[in-house]
Amino acid sequence: MASARKTSSGEMVLKGIGVSPGIAVAPVFLLAADDRLVPERRLTDREALAEIMRLENAIIETRRQLTDIHRHVEEQAGRQHADIFDMHKLVLDDPAFIAEVFDGILKRHANAEHAIRLAAEGYTDTLSRVEDDYLRERVSDVKDVARRLIRNLSDSTHTPLTGLSVRSVIVGVDLAPSETATLQREWVLGFATDQGSPTSHTAIMARALGIPAVVGLSNISQLVKVGEEILVDGSSGEVVLRPSTERRRMAGLYAEEQRTIQTELGTLRDQPAETADGHAIVLSANVELVSELPAVLQSGAQGIGLFRSEYLYISRETLPSEEEQLAAYGEAAKAMAPQPVIIRTVDLGGDKFASSVRVPHEVNPFLGFRAIRFCLAQPALFKTQVRAILRASALGRVSMMYPMISNVGEVRQANAIVDACKEELRGEGLDFDEKMPVGAMVEIPSAALTAEIIAPHVKFFSLGTNDLVQYTLAVDRVNERVAHLYEPTHPAVLRLIRCTIEAGHAHGVWVGVCGEMAGNPVLTPLLVGMGLDELSTVPANVPAVKDAIRRVRLSDAQALAENAAKLGTAAEILDLCRELTKRTAPEILRLAGKPGAERGSATPGK
Ligand code: PEP
Ligand code: MG
Repeated sequence: MASARKTSSGEMVLKGIGVSPGIAVAPVFLLAADDRLVPERRLTDREALAEIMRLENAIIETRRQLTDIHRHVEEQAGRQHADIFDMHKLVLDDPAFIAEVFDGILKRHANAEHAIRLAAEGYTDTLSRVEDDYLRERVSDVKDVARRLIRNLSDSTHTPLTGLSVRSVIVGVDLAPSETATLQREWVLGFATDQGSPTSHTAIMARALGIPAVVGLSNISQLVKVGEEILVDGSSGEVVLRPSTERRRMAGLYAEEQRTIQTELGTLRDQPAETADGHAIVLSANVELVSELPAVLQSGAQGIGLFRSEYLYISRETLPSEEEQLAAYGEAAKAMAPQPVIIRTVDLGGDKFASSVRVPHEVNPFLGFRAIRFCLAQPALFKTQVRAILRASALGRVSMMYPMISNVGEVRQANAIVDACKEELRGEGLDFDEKMPVGAMVEIPSAALTAEIIAPHVKFFSLGTNDLVQYTLAVDRVNERVAHLYEPTHPAVLRLIRCTIEAGHAHGVWVGVCGEMAGNPVLTPLLVGMGLDELSTVPANVPAVKDAIRRVRLSDAQALAENAAKLGTAAEILDLCRELTKRTAPEILRLAGKPGAERGSATPGK
């Protein structure tokens, strides 16, 4: 849980969850919560008339955008998805709503942005109190239209982070995927957020971009002032407001030591990922964006074990076309060839949403309409992606895997769609790899427990431990209040991993891990000892994981896994892993910084 204390030198030290290693010191850039972004001004009578003109222009632009998006979505994904934009047009053309906004400007002398916000709040307040589900659902339509109108007034389609031009630490409640996907790396030195956990998308993106980050700080966004100095230590989870000269000096020394270790690990780049006694592991990289390909090549990874394709779908108004997707997957396939690239079919829902796809509000989005469930219900959208992936398979060594598989029926259904896409491509004379391997992610306990039934239908399993841990332990992966219960080394999680490995191997199906657990070098011997064939992690973690593989003997790793299987708690198992690491690869613990803050770990607070 987050905590805060003051020091005698006037610093404020906050403790959250370190999710991306490294130290950053820079001025605060405060990312205001959405509703605080609206500028508020009192107008004179003359200004009020001019404001009406501004508003009318914004309404015209908004209507034009909605018509364009409607057409595009209808072409790409069918009528059903486009309907939402009809709904938005109805809100925009609702005379009562617009009259309310006009009144705000003319009678209350509010600027247009503020008047829209007031009118939208009045509407959504009333709508959320009605009994009718259909009307209650309109709340999000009103909010979306208000947001679009306000954006069109400010004449900017950019997220607040696109305007950044000073090297800063970003502080906010949380970052939206659209914000992380569009930020300019050179200006962002660190993140510190109120919400989040090691496996929330902000944390995953921070690691992918190599940006030190601390999340789960409760109320940091209310404690900081714009422009004041802040230190973020992504290894220990500490954030210091107004750091003293001494603390900054120590941070500099620490950063220097980290760089030295990283440079040493960098020399492993062309060495094989095999244990001290020659047992080879496939060590691959996870990516979200095509812009990460150079980092993958630089890391010494043997290909891409997880391409999170959903980042092609978010931070945009329309769905990506087959050609656009082919360009992205093809670029990855060509850059990595002859190494493999595993593209995961889109995993929207949970904590990742796309503005072009309508997903009704859900009380439990992680247990809801997400990933493969969503794709199987939207065959047109799914087929566009499958066709693009198949076509990319002609350009390199491409595999594909399905997220959130909970039963064999879903695999069969998805495979049938793949077969139909192959048939279409053959008919159209378009190239693809007839033998493109298709795998299933194992991230739901039911899939792990029935891995034996699923195995005959796939070529590989990839354990998505970020979700597997949350679903096994009933711990929301993005809720900082229960982050201390999120334990990847919990015996139940390890049993499910073992069950998957045994079932896979019995059917000649290789088994990897692409969750954050694979990026924690302290856990590498345990995973290797359990018999995993592949580990896939963010490029920044590849050198340390390779070091951990190369330092251990397979027999010692196997003994560790056997001993771990006899222990009762996650903490005991983690201690056992730490002891072995202390003996075989002490530099990894130094890399973790302070004791107990394992680098890239998904075990906060340990
Ligand atoms: C996982 O769940 O471990 C995984 C790799 O997928 P994501 O983090 O994108 O849900
Ligand atoms: Mg997952």
